[in-house]
Amino acid sequence: MQQFQQYIGGRFDAGTAQFDSLDPATGQVWARMPEAREADVTRAVQAAEDAFFAPDWADMTATQRGKLLMRLADLVAENAQRLAALETRDTGKIIRETSAQIAYVADYYRYYAGLADKIEGAHLPIDKPDMEVWLRREPLGVVAAVVPWNSQLFLSAVKIGPALAAGCTVVLKASEEAPAPMLEFARIFDQAGFPPGVLNVITGFGASCGSVLTAHPRVAHVAFTGGPATARHIVRNSAENLASTSLELGGKSPFIVFEDADLESAVNAQISGIFAATGQSCVAGSRLIIANKIKDEFLARLKEKAEAVVIGAPDDMATEVGPLCTEAQRSHALSLIASSVEQGAKLITGGTALPGEGYYFPPTILDCTAAPEAACLRQEFFGPVLSVLSFDSEEEALALANDTAFGLASGVFTQNLTRAHRMIRRLRAGIVWVNTYRAVSPIAPFGGHGLSGHGREGGLQAALDYTKVKAVWLRTSDDPIPDPFVMR
Ligand code: NAD
Repeated sequence: MQQFQQYIGGRFDAGTAQFDSLDPATGQVWARMPEAREADVTRAVQAAEDAFFAPDWADMTATQRGKLLMRLADLVAENAQRLAALETRDTGKIIRETSAQIAYVADYYRYYAGLADKIEGAHLPIDKPDMEVWLRREPLGVVAAVVPWNSQLFLSAVKIGPALAAGCTVVLKASEEAPAPMLEFARIFDQAGFPPGVLNVITGFGASCGSVLTAHPRVAHVAFTGGPATARHIVRNSAENLASTSLELGGKSPFIVFEDADLESAVNAQISGIFAATGQSCVAGSRLIIANKIKDEFLARLKEKAEAVVIGAPDDMATEVGPLCTEAQRSHALSLIASSVEQGAKLITGGTALPGEGYYFPPTILDCTAAPEAACLRQEFFGPVLSVLSFDSEEEALALANDTAFGLASGVFTQNLTRAHRMIRRLRAGIVWVNTYRAVSPIAPFGGHGLSGHGREGGLQAALDYTKVKAVWLRTSDDPIPDPFVMR
C-alpha cells in the first residue's frame, strides 16, 4: 500500500500518526496518509515563519520569485497526468476533468509568476513641504491555506500562486478526505528550487489539525475554501490572532433560462453545470429557473440527456459521472431528497443510490414548482441534484434567483441583449455567466458574498490581497525640527 508523506521545512516525513484513505470507486483503503497533529502543525508554522524572515526568501527579488513560480508551472505541466491520476484515485473525480483541470493549473502558476514583479507601491503627492511619502507593498507573512477535497490542486494554486508572488510563505492543509494529490504536489514543488519552508504541506482532521493551524498566533492570514459551517470555525479561530481571512464557500447558484434562449446550448450548459464533477462543485448551477413557456420541452430534453449520462469508473476516459467522494456525501444527498419530496418536490429522474461498491449516485432532477420552500432549494447538496423552479416574468425570475443566502455564481441564457444587461446588474452573485457556464481563468476574479464568503481568488487583486501597505515618510529638510510638541 502506498504511504504518503508530509512536507515541512523542505523535508518529507510520515507524520506523528497516520490514517487510511479510501478509494471512492470501491470504498476500499488504498493508501496511508500522514496525520498532522499539534506538534506537526507547530513545526510547519515555525518553518514557514523562519523561511519568511530568512534572507534567501525575504531578500529575493520579486523577479526571481516569479522565475521560481514559472519553474513550478513547468513542473506541474510536466507532471499533470500523474497528478490527475492521483486526484482521480483519491477523490473519485473523473479523469477527463482532472487531466483538463490540472493542465490549466499550470497556467495559474504562470499567471502569478508574471505578476510577481508587477506588485507595485505608490508615491503620494503629500500636502506638506519637504516631505516624501510613498507606500510599500509588503507580504502579509505566514499564510494558512485550508482546502476541501474537490479540485485541491486548483484551489491551492489560487492561494499558493498569489501568496508566493507577493512574498508570503504558506502552510497548506490538504483535505483529510483526499490528500494524495497535494502531498504529491509537494514533491514537485520541492524540485522547483524554492528555499525550504516557503511552502509546507500537511494534512489532518478539522479539530486536531485545521483548527490548530488557523488559530496559530504566527499565522497572518487564513485563506479558506470549504463549507459555511467550517468557515464560521475558521473566523472564530482567526479571531485569536486577529488574522485576516478570505473565504471561498459553497453556493446554491441559479441557472436562468428565458424562452428566447438557444435551447440546445442551455440544456448542454445545464447538464455540465450541475452534473460535471458529479455535482461536487461550488459553482454548480443547482437551481434551474426556467420560463414556463418552455418548461415542459426543456425538462424533457434535460431528462433525456441526464438519463443518457455515462456513469462509471472515474479513471475511464468514457465516464461522465463518477462516484461521490464519500459515503457521507451520498447519505446527505439521500436525506435531503427525502425531506424535499416530503415538502412537495416531485422527482423527475434519479434520486436513489446506485447498487454495488463505491459511492455512486445518478443525475437527479427535482421539480420544486409546487414546493418553493423545499430544503433542496436552500441547502447545498454537493452532489448531482438539480432543483427546478419556473417563472412567467423577468421580475419573477430575478426574485427567485436572488432568493438565497448564498451569492457565488449565476447563469443567464437569453438572446435578448437588454434583458441580459438588466439581469447582470441585478443578480446578487460574484460571477454572472451569460450564455455560458462554469468558465474560469487565472485572469478573472472568482468568489462570492453572503454565505458564499468574501475575498476574491484569481486576477491581480488576489495578489494584492496577500500584501499589506506600509506608509513611509521621509523628511527632506536639513533644518532642525521646530516645535517638537506639534504633530506635523
Ligand atoms: P469542509 O468545510 O468540510 O472542509 C474544508 C477543509 O476545512 C478541510 O481541509 C477540513 O479538514 C478543514 N476543516 C474542517 N474543520 C475545521 C476546523 N474546525 N478548523 C479548520 N479547518 C477545518 O468542506 P468539504 O466538505 O471538504 O468541501 C465541500 C465544501 O467546499 C462545499 O461547501 C463547497 O461548496 C465548498 N467549496 C467552495 C469553493 C469555492 O471556491 N467557493 C470551491 C470548492 C469547494
